[in-house]
Amino acid sequence: MSQQIVENIIRIKERITIACENSYRDPKDVKLLLATKTVSEEYIEIALNAGHILIAENKVQELKEKFEKLKKIPHTNHFIGHLQSNKIKDLIKYNVTCIQSLDRLSLAEKLHQHLEKEGRVLDVLIQVNTSFEDSKFGMSPRGVIELVRQVAQFDTIKIKGLMTIGLLSTDNEKVRRCFRLLKDIQKNIEVQQISNVQMTELSMGMSGDLEIAVEEGATIVRVGTAIFGQRSTPNSFYWNEGN
Ligand SMILES: *Cc1c(COP(=O)(O)O)cnc(C)c1O
Repeated sequence: MSQQIVENIIRIKERITIACENSYRDPKDVKLLLATKTVSEEYIEIALNAGHILIAENKVQELKEKFEKLKKIPHTNHFIGHLQSNKIKDLIKYNVTCIQSLDRLSLAEKLHQHLEKEGRVLDVLIQVNTSFEDSKFGMSPRGVIELVRQVAQFDTIKIKGLMTIGLLSTDNEKVRRCFRLLKDIQKNIEVQQISNVQMTELSMGMSGDLEIAVEEGATIVRVGTAIFGQRSTPNSFYWNEGN
């Protein structure tokens, strides 16, 4: 399995490189983030030792459980899961440098309170629901600019860009539409030059659709299954309301 993980990472990097070549982009402009939900510390350690520094969890509980074992290996932690306000206090104990799933003002308010108390700042991406599915988290595309303006008022929170989960579909054009929408929203926000807001990062694309995302401008692709294998827990456990 450990050899497999290393080989899978190499294969994903090749896929990113080819997608970059097809869209005249520099592969250096696309970061590979390893989505490590349900993956054991041992396997994550193998990936980290192979030189893959950017990882992310979906649940604070899992982040906490793996923290002790992984903290000795240099790496960067993002958070990509649905976040409940009452978990923020816990989350910011575990060296997360970016919350990619900020999707509502109430969450930003709570986050600001905690960060201010600790005299810290934190990067965030705004999660957008580009697939218009009720089951997915994320701010609706129409509300994004307003949310960005509101969050920008909190000086502890540094907006660095946008994140989305594309439609899970075999129809590539429908998937592409999600990513293109995120890129359009990014451009709309950029031209407004809101202070305390950067729009450098576009986190989009996963195991099944990373090529499309790279072609549409992704700067971070989040890959789990294609590196660590199939999970026994369905995505709905992480992505839907009510858990
Ligand atoms: C699990 C997850 C991923 C990775 O998905 P795979 O299909 O396993 O590559 C990416 N983003 C988010 C938000 C996830 O929860």
